[in-house]
Amino acid sequence: MAEATALRPHHGMCLAFFVGEGYSEGFSAHMGTVKRHLSEETPVRLTVGADVICAACPNNSGGVCEKPALVAGYDNEVLRLCGLSDGQVLPYGVFRDLVHTRILAAGRRRGICGGCQWDALCGE
Ligand code: SF4
Repeated sequence: MAEATALRPHHGMCLAFFVGEGYSEGFSAHMGTVKRHLSEETPVRLTVGADVICAACPNNSGGVCEKPALVAGYDNEVLRLCGLSDGQVLPYGVFRDLVHTRILAAGRRRGICGGCQWDALCGE
């Protein structure tokens, strides 16, 4: 198996709704590239910490998000609802489908990250 891509659990929701908007032009371009490269089989390592998307974020200072407690709270809630754990490795398609069925289709997203500045872009 190829080396796993680090992915913050809550970014499973962000990726589902990503339409090209983001914290900066460079960030959005990078996130679009990440999304295009994540296939069904790509192994992802769920990480409550900086990941492949944070790598190009202007809010990432030396590998730490400027809102660490807030985003870790989002991450831990996604893990809990999906029955997954920090550090777990699984195919991206399996993770994406769990996020879809247990959170997005179940109407639970807003309860996790409804206070996020991008909330309006992410319909139920
Ligand atoms: S550094 Fe923070 S704001 Fe930026 S992508 Fe990562 S979790 Fe989101």
